[in-house]
Amino acid sequence: MSSKDKVINNSLSEPSNLSNLQIDYFVKEYTNGKICDKEMEKWLKNIFHYGMTYNETLSYTQALINSGSRIEFPDLDGYLIDKHSTGGVGDKVSFVLGPILAACGCYIPMLAGRGLEHTGGTIDKLESIPGYRTQLSLNEFKKIVLKVGISIMCQTGEICPADQKIYALRDVSKTVASNPLICGSILSKKIAEGIEGLVLDIKVGNGAFMESMDAALKLGQLLGKVGKNYGINISICYTSMEQPLGNNCGLWCEIIESLDCLKGRGPQDIMDVVFYLGDKALRLAGYKDVKKKMIKCIEDRSALNIFLKMIESHGGDIKSLYDPEYNKPLYLKKYKIDKVGYIKSIDTRKIGNSLVKLGCGRERKNDKLDFTAGFKFYKKVGDFINSEDIIFEYFCSNQRKINQVQKFLDKVIILDVEQTVEPNLILS
Ligand code: URA
Repeated sequence: MSSKDKVINNSLSEPSNLSNLQIDYFVKEYTNGKICDKEMEKWLKNIFHYGMTYNETLSYTQALINSGSRIEFPDLDGYLIDKHSTGGVGDKVSFVLGPILAACGCYIPMLAGRGLEHTGGTIDKLESIPGYRTQLSLNEFKKIVLKVGISIMCQTGEICPADQKIYALRDVSKTVASNPLICGSILSKKIAEGIEGLVLDIKVGNGAFMESMDAALKLGQLLGKVGKNYGINISICYTSMEQPLGNNCGLWCEIIESLDCLKGRGPQDIMDVVFYLGDKALRLAGYKDVKKKMIKCIEDRSALNIFLKMIESHGGDIKSLYDPEYNKPLYLKKYKIDKVGYIKSIDTRKIGNSLVKLGCGRERKNDKLDFTAGFKFYKKVGDFINSEDIIFEYFCSNQRKINQVQKFLDKVIILDVEQTVEPNLILS
């Protein structure tokens, strides 16, 4: 593979060096177990370092789609749409926006993923709800979409099995932040869902895979071009990940914060992103007066009821959501700094890595998660703090892990004597 033809990670240049057949072979044989993790990791690392041409990216996306079925929803009385983010810390927007879109009359067959490196996973968060099944048969998935308006599940043996397996390997092999691999992974799931419209939330900043706007724009361009090739109407959005989204990040605590959002008492930053992406989604669906519609779905609790109905349809125990003792962490530490000043920045990637160490993500493929683990922020960028103020709490149910994380949090918050302007949340 020549690096001349493949600008690292972001190439749209040609010609293609890997043939369709070669790409198909690697994807197929890894999925059916004939290629081992070690060999696949080498292949992925090669792509991570040298990138892929546009044609290779198309072939890779198609190979991931071909590994399973593509759903169809014939004769539907509403617009089929989805939203997907490139990954962040505290990003629970799918749990709020998905039910809102369904309450507005859209259908959302959402295939989501687990945690990737320092970023949280929609599926891991849903699995913190006792009984919630994330791997349904396609028949059951479709039935829930038609009945409730939304179903959120994982890739399965039937749909995108190749992405399911490669995704888990990328998580622990430092091969996530690669434009062609991200593009194939996201779009294979979205194309297999059979949707008409898609809103992509490209996260930018120190807690995202794309730390600069320039890098984010390159990914956005690639996703837009490949998506268009499949005839999907895509709206590409860019939002900031310079600090965790909302006050809570982790697993169970993010489900509870999502319920708060759907009850009309969500943190402003989450709601700003929800309404921004919702506006784009409902416009794709051909709606007017979109903000009014979204607010109404929250005020009349129709979006909340849809979220609860979806959880119930997946086997989740609704009672647990109202039990303050459920998934309560055994250990909690408060984080203060013995200084006075304004918060200038938060090292969001370090927060994400700490979440993984607490048990919200995996360092090895089969690591068991701790649903009780997470962070709760009391202060964010631009806030003034006194030496007595708690900036955040972090918690989990493993004493060794909570003690380990304590050492890791050095310099995670940077103070300044002057107030920093809060970073723009909506970037474009
Ligand atoms: N989301 C995905 O589904 N895949 C990626 O690679 C990154 C974010």
